[in-house]
Amino acid sequence: MMEFEYWWLITIPLIFGMGWLAARLDLRQLLHESRELPRSYFKGLNFLVNEQSDQAIDAFIEVVRLDPETIELHFALGNLFRKRGETDRAIRMHLNLYQRSDLEPAQREHALYELGQDYMKAGLLDRAEQSFSALNDSRHARDAQLALLEIYQREHDWNKAIAAAQQLQHTHGINQAGLLAHFYCEQAQEALQRQQWENAEALLTQALSVCPHHVRASMLQGELKQQQGQTRAAAEIWSTLAHQHPEFLPLIARRYYAAMQAQGRAAEAETRLRAYLEKRPSHDILLTLFDTAQEAHGAAAALTLLQQELRRAPTLQAFNRLLGMQLENATGDERAMLESIKHLIHRHARQMERYTCQACGFKAREFYWQCPGCAHWDSYAPQRQEETE
Ligand SMILES: [Zn+2]
Repeated sequence: MMEFEYWWLITIPLIFGMGWLAARLDLRQLLHESRELPRSYFKGLNFLVNEQSDQAIDAFIEVVRLDPETIELHFALGNLFRKRGETDRAIRMHLNLYQRSDLEPAQREHALYELGQDYMKAGLLDRAEQSFSALNDSRHARDAQLALLEIYQREHDWNKAIAAAQQLQHTHGINQAGLLAHFYCEQAQEALQRQQWENAEALLTQALSVCPHHVRASMLQGELKQQQGQTRAAAEIWSTLAHQHPEFLPLIARRYYAAMQAQGRAAEAETRLRAYLEKRPSHDILLTLFDTAQEAHGAAAALTLLQQELRRAPTLQAFNRLLGMQLENATGDERAMLESIKHLIHRHARQMERYTCQACGFKAREFYWQCPGCAHWDSYAPQRQEETE
């Protein structure tokens, strides 16, 4: 039998004793430090606990005046207010810091950066822009530039956004190719609406030079050619796009088919659209095929296509079309019943016909390159809701 080692028993109280000693030392240290803090610090804390934020701010401003060591506390509180959406208070805290003449330059710059964030959160974009623009040579230059980029996007000031993105790329090495292409596309789209063809062409060339094969730029290029009456070039661009990025086919189905048809290449387009449907359902493609079948081969051919598709992928949209066709030949009670079913299906089908932002879940009937909900770029899948379920 092993002999029990009694000396272990002594170590237990010893360990407890050491813990007690350590705790006491910490407490002493804490008490020592707290004695050094000005009274207004505790006054401020007290106000804060009682949710008297304004009085708390005044007390803390006094703390910083008496004891510059507590500047970090000021920053922490300012950010806390901003996070809670109390931007007025955050602005007051940070402005107070920024206006102090005895602050180190680095701390003043920090205050100015935080102030810019407060203004941005408060929606005072011009003041935010002023604050961030003054930080170009500071250690906050990169973050300030990123914030400026966000401001220019919110203001739809694409020229300034392009300049900011280029600076981020050149000075700070952050790749902005995809964003730059979108900014040029935004400008090109405006030019297209004003029918400034040459301007649009130049902008799209720039977009494609920073980001080759950019889907949106290619789509706009196809649209430009179409509007200029250059159907052949448009058909070529959309055909290439359909080949390289088939997932975007639902977005361009009708324009692609029309341009191809004008070039006598309808059969080729139809084959490609049908090939897409074999892989996954799509309202836009199905309806394009349905309309063109009806136009080219009559109602019977269109009906056959619809029935085939319904067997493969029973979507509400296809069912809605089928009911529409059957309604045309129905009479009396049957017609009344079909009409009420169609009404119901139609309502649901429209509910489902939405694009969904993958970043924030925002749903929209229209396809967006930038989400109106969360401002992310390229966050919408080119398929509608029902097609992805
Ligand atoms: Zn979103």
